[in-house]
Amino acid sequence: MADFTLKTGTDGVAVITWDCPGKSMNVMSFEGLAELDACIDEVLSDDSIKGAVITSGKDSFAGGMDLNILASLRDAIEGDPAKGVFEGVMRMHGILRKIERAGMDAKSHKGGKPIVAALPGTAMGIGYELPLACHRIFAAETKAKIGLPEIMVGLFPGAGGTTRLVRKLGAMAAAPYLLEGKTLAPAKAKAAGLVDEVVAPGELLAKAKDWVLNASDADLLKPWDAKGYKMPGGAPYTPAGFPTFMGAAVMVHGKTKGVYPAARALLSAVYEGALVSFDEALKIEARWFTKIVLDPTSGAMIRSLFLNKGALEKGAVRPEGVEDQRVRKVGVLGAGMMGAGIALVSAMAGIEVVLIDARQEAADKGKAYAESYMDKGISRGKATAQKKEATLALITATTDYAALEGCDLVIEAVFEDPGVKAEVTAKAEVVLGEDAIFATNTSTLPISDLAKASARPGQFIGIHFFSPVEKMNLVEIIRGRETGDRAVAKALDYVRQIRKTPIVVNDARFFYANRCILPYINEGIRMVGEGVAPWMVEHSAELLGFPVGPLQLTDEVSIDLGVKIAKATKAAMGEAYPDADVDDVVFWLADQGRMGRKAGAGFYAYDDKGKRQGIWPGLVEKFPLAEDQPELVQVQHRLMMAQVLEAVRALEEGVLTDIREGDVGAILGWGFAPWSGGPFSWLDMIGAGKAVEICDRLEAAHGPRFAAPKLLREMAEAGERFYTRFDPARAA
Ligand code: NAD
Repeated sequence: MADFTLKTGTDGVAVITWDCPGKSMNVMSFEGLAELDACIDEVLSDDSIKGAVITSGKDSFAGGMDLNILASLRDAIEGDPAKGVFEGVMRMHGILRKIERAGMDAKSHKGGKPIVAALPGTAMGIGYELPLACHRIFAAETKAKIGLPEIMVGLFPGAGGTTRLVRKLGAMAAAPYLLEGKTLAPAKAKAAGLVDEVVAPGELLAKAKDWVLNASDADLLKPWDAKGYKMPGGAPYTPAGFPTFMGAAVMVHGKTKGVYPAARALLSAVYEGALVSFDEALKIEARWFTKIVLDPTSGAMIRSLFLNKGALEKGAVRPEGVEDQRVRKVGVLGAGMMGAGIALVSAMAGIEVVLIDARQEAADKGKAYAESYMDKGISRGKATAQKKEATLALITATTDYAALEGCDLVIEAVFEDPGVKAEVTAKAEVVLGEDAIFATNTSTLPISDLAKASARPGQFIGIHFFSPVEKMNLVEIIRGRETGDRAVAKALDYVRQIRKTPIVVNDARFFYANRCILPYINEGIRMVGEGVAPWMVEHSAELLGFPVGPLQLTDEVSIDLGVKIAKATKAAMGEAYPDADVDDVVFWLADQGRMGRKAGAGFYAYDDKGKRQGIWPGLVEKFPLAEDQPELVQVQHRLMMAQVLEAVRALEEGVLTDIREGDVGAILGWGFAPWSGGPFSWLDMIGAGKAVEICDRLEAAHGPRFAAPKLLREMAEAGERFYTRFDPARAA
C-alpha cells in the first residue's frame, strides 16, 4: 500500500491522494516523497492529464515530516552526516521545485500544468510546505490548523517553507509563522495570505479541479520566478526592508537570548536568501537547515518536545493490561484557585463536574471562574457561546457531598492542611462507589501519609496540577506506597482526556518538579545573601534560556509561600536543614512586608499598576554587593547544577523511573531551558565527565549540596550517557 496514489478522472484532472496506511494523520517519509515524485512525473509526462490536485484521504492534510527521517539522513552517508542531510534536503527541494515549475518553459514560463493543493484539514510543516510549492492552495473551512511549527522543536522550515513564505508575504508578515510557529485556522489563514481559497468541505475537490481546468499560464507563474520580482515589504538593502531585517535580528536575539540556534539560522537563511535568486536561496536554506539538524540542541528538543512528549501523552507509561479508565463524572473538592481551574479544564473536555466547597458562595465563585474564562475566549474568537453554555452546564457548584454520587474520580484541592484533607477524603468516600479513585492535588504533603485517611489506599493517588491549571500542560501523577495500577491508569486516562502531558513519579518530598525548582530558587536567593549582584543572578538565568530568573519567580509565587515552605521543610528535616542562609534573605523580605508581586513589593520594585521596575534598591542596601563579583558562567553553573543534580538524585532514588519523564516534565513543569531538551539531555550534551568536574569545583567552593551523585560519577568513569544507559532505543 502506498502513501500517495494517483487517479485521473474523465475531466483529465489527476487527483493525487496522500493517505498513509494505518496512520491517523499523514506524515512525510522517504518512501512517500519518492511516490509523490513518481505521481508528479506521471502528471507532467502524460499528455492526457491536464493538471493535478494534491489532497488527502484523511480529515487532515498532513501533520508534518516523519522526524525520524532527519536521523536517517544524518546516517545516510557514512562519516559525513552534513552531506547526508544536505543532499537529502536538496532532493526534496528538487521535487517541490518540479511541482512549482510544472513543466513550464524556463524562459517563456509557458506550457506548465496546474497543480493545486486541496487541504481538507490540518496542514503543518511539510504539510504546508508542499502546498506552498503548488500553484494555488484551497482549504476546507474547518477549525484545522495551518502553519509551520518547526521552530517549536528546535528546527525551522527546511523544505522551502522559509524561502517561499518570505517571498510570498514579505519578511515582516512571515515572521510570526516562521519565528513563533504561529498556526491559523483556514479563514484566518486566508486573511493572512497563507492560503488562497477557503471553501465548504463538500466542495473542496470540485473547486480545486475547476481551478485546474481554468488556469492560465500566468496563473502558474510564481511571483518570484517572474521578471522584476520584488520582495513584499522590501529586501534587506532597501529603505523599506532595512529596518525590518535589523529589527528582526534585535527582536530574535532579545527573545531567545542567543540560546536557540534554530531562530538564528532561520534569520540567516531569510536574510542571505533575500539577496540572491530563488534557487540559490533554497540552497542557502538547505545549508542552514543542515547545520541545525546537526546541532545537538535540535536533536534534544525533538526528542523531548515532540517524540517523548507525544509518547507520554499516548500512554507510554500506562500500566499494562488495565482496561479503559476514561472519566465520566469528576468531583472536585475545594473551589479555590486550583479547584476552579481543574473544574474548568475537565468540563471543557466534556466531563461532568461536581464542584464542592465549604460555602455555596465559594463554590459559585469557582464556577464563575469558568464563566469568565469562556467569556474571554469568546471575546478573542477562541470559543463560542454554545461551547460556553455546554461547558457551564457540565459544572454543578454545591456544598452537598451527596452530589458526588456516581463520580468515578474525585480530586481534592482544599487547603494544604492534612487535617482538612483527611476530613474531605472521609466525607467523599462515604458517598463514592466502590471503584471510584480519590486523588489529591497537594503540592507538598506526602501522598502515602494522606492516603492514611482513606479506607482504600490502593485507590488513592496524587494528581498534581500546576498553576494556572488551564495554561500549564504538565500534570504530575504521584504513586503513593499503596497506590494500585488502576488508580495510575485512571489518572493517566483522565490527563489524556483533558489533553495535558502526564509524568508518573513515586512519592517523595516535593515529588519531582517542585523538588528541582526549589534548589534553583534557593541558589539564586542564596547568592543575593552572599552579595552577588541580584541583576546578574537574574540575567544569568535568562541567558540560560529560563523564562524567569529565580528572584522574579519567587516574587511571582509569593514570598509568604516561600516562608511557609521553608518553615515546613525545616520542621520536617530538623538539624539537617540546609537552607538557613536562604531564609535570612526571604524572612527579612517578609518582615519588610515585601510579599512579592501580589503585594507590589518583593525582590523587585513595582509601579502603581503592578508593573515590574527592576530590582528593589533596598535589597542591595541590606545585602551589599561583594567587591569580587563572580563570572557569569560561575553563576550559571550554580543555577543549572542546583536543579540538574536534584533531577539526577530523583532518578537515583527511584522517584523518577524514566528519564523521558524527567526531561519532558522539567521543560513543561518549570520551563527548564527548553533548548537543552531537559536536565538529562543537557547532561548528555556536556557529558558526565564534564558535569562531575563542575560539581567538584562547586562543591569545593560552595559546599556539599553540589557533590556529584554516585550515579553521575559512575557514568563519568564509564563514559556513559543517560540516554544510552537508560533509554538506548531513543539515544540520539
Ligand atoms: P485556595 O486557598 O485558593 O483554595 C482552597 C479552597 O478549598 C478554598 O476555596 C476553600 O474554601 C476550600 N476548602 C477549604 N476547606 C474545605 C472543606 N473542608 N471542604 C470544601 N472546601 C474546602 O488554594 P489553592 O491554591 O487552590 O490550593 C489548593 C490545593 O492545591 C492545595 O493543596 C495546594 O497545595 C495545591 N496546589 C496549589 C498550587 C498553587 O500554585 N496554588 C499548585 C499545585 C497544587
